[in-house]
Amino acid sequence: MDSSISFDDWYDRFNRFAGDLYPDRYTPEFVRELVDQGREVRSLAAQKNSVIVAHNYQYPELQEIAETVGDSLGLSKQVAEQSKPRVDFCGVWFMGETAKTIVGDKVKVYMPDHPGCSLVASIDHGRIRAWKEHNPDGLIISYINTDAKTKAMSDYICTSRNAAKIVSHAAAHHPGRRMLFLPDKYLGAVSLAQSGIDPELVDLYDGACHVHAKIGEFALEQALDLYPDAEILIHPECGCASTCLAKIMAGESEYQNAYYLSTDQMIRHAEASPVKEFIVGTESGMLYRLRKELPEKKFYPVHPDAVCEYMKMNTMEKLLDSLRNDRIEVNIDPETRQKAQAAIDRMLTIQ
Ligand code: SF4
Repeated sequence: MDSSISFDDWYDRFNRFAGDLYPDRYTPEFVRELVDQGREVRSLAAQKNSVIVAHNYQYPELQEIAETVGDSLGLSKQVAEQSKPRVDFCGVWFMGETAKTIVGDKVKVYMPDHPGCSLVASIDHGRIRAWKEHNPDGLIISYINTDAKTKAMSDYICTSRNAAKIVSHAAAHHPGRRMLFLPDKYLGAVSLAQSGIDPELVDLYDGACHVHAKIGEFALEQALDLYPDAEILIHPECGCASTCLAKIMAGESEYQNAYYLSTDQMIRHAEASPVKEFIVGTESGMLYRLRKELPEKKFYPVHPDAVCEYMKMNTMEKLLDSLRNDRIEVNIDPETRQKAQAAIDRMLTIQ
């Protein structure tokens, strides 16, 4: 039995740090089930020589059971650097595909479920092909949070942090060539404005994340009304934070106390800040880790509905089933993987 997993700890942590995020979820009966399943998951992971990793937006119990919790590119890089032959990846499908693209054949990647993503679902490969036919010299720049097939069709991959830099780089190295930026229209608009290149040269795809739509255009303003002394922390990971990001990057004055940070930077920033309250502008799963690591500070979701149902499709029960039965393995055909890898590598050399 894995004695590092205790009912008292989990029951206390889940309710203290995530009780408001997932009301009525962490009953004593359910936490007891999670503890039993979690112990079996640990034991099977050891037997199968698997490393379990979880995205920041996963349920608290999956963050607890994982060896590493982080953002999608960070997790993929860590998966590539570790030596175990198997990874159980708790995140959405495109993240598992990114990990598989980076690790190749040397590591098997399994996922507890097959969760989609509304941002990825907004991509129509036929439209990309049609754009390319009209613009044979055109350059396609895709967000890292896309499926492997889209990455394989792309000249450059970008993250939300380096998008403007990649757009500028592409424009400088291929003067006068048209570009298609996809899929997130908000990230595209911000990157275009920041890069300062001729907007006539860039076509922005009109994709968006449904969590962003649930949060609404005015979530930041409403959260600041409730917590006027709070700092705003934006996690540049998913489409859900795009509108918050766009307002802050546009330099609107009421967002002077807004910071655009990676997970680790967020924790370090909140720890060092004299401020006691923070509004977190991203999917609310992120709050569990922040609250757990810094219990003396207060972290509020930018909106109570900032929850991605796709991320929450993964559960401890499904992870256990995956480890028992090797159910859902991520595989990408070699040609697609090779092209997607080349686009990712191009990005990594620009950073
Ligand atoms: S938060 Fe949005 S972009 Fe991120 S996985 Fe969920 S649907 Fe996709």
